[in-house]
Amino acid sequence: MDNNCIFCKIADGRIPSTIVYQDNEVVAFKDTNPQAPVHVLLIPRRHIASIAELTPEDEPVMSAIFAAAQNVARQAGVEQGYRFLTNVGRQAGQSVFHLHFHLLGGRDMTWPPG
Ligand code: IMP
Repeated sequence: MDNNCIFCKIADGRIPSTIVYQDNEVVAFKDTNPQAPVHVLLIPRRHIASIAELTPEDEPVMSAIFAAAQNVARQAGVEQGYRFLTNVGRQAGQSVFHLHFHLLGGRDMTWPPG
C-alpha cells in the first residue's frame, strides 16, 4: 500500500467512494468526473502504478479485473457496448498512478480518442 495514493485510500475505505463491485482483488467505483453516463474505475487493491509495472505474477489480478469488468458492465446494463481502457503515463493522460481501468458506456463512443 502507498500511503500517498488516493486509490489505495479508496480501496481500503479511508476515502469515500461509490463502490459498485468489490472482491478480494478488485474494487470498482464511480468516477467523480464522469465522461459518460456509465463511468466506473476498476483497480487492483494492491498498489501497482500502471500496466507498465505489471509482472507475470500479476496475472491473477488482471484476470480478476477483466472478470469484474464483465460483471460491472452487466450490472450497469451496458454489456452490449462499452469502452474499457487504461492510460499509461502522463503523455497518455494518466493522472492517478495506481493502475485503473476506465469502463465507459451508455452513449455512442467516437474514435480516435483525443
Ligand atoms: P486517469 O486520468 O486515467 O489517471 O484517470 C483518473 C481518473 O480518476 C479521472 O477520470 C478522475 O476523474 C478520477 N478520480 C480522481 N479522483 C477520484 C476520486 O476520489 N474518486 C473517483 N474518481 C476519481
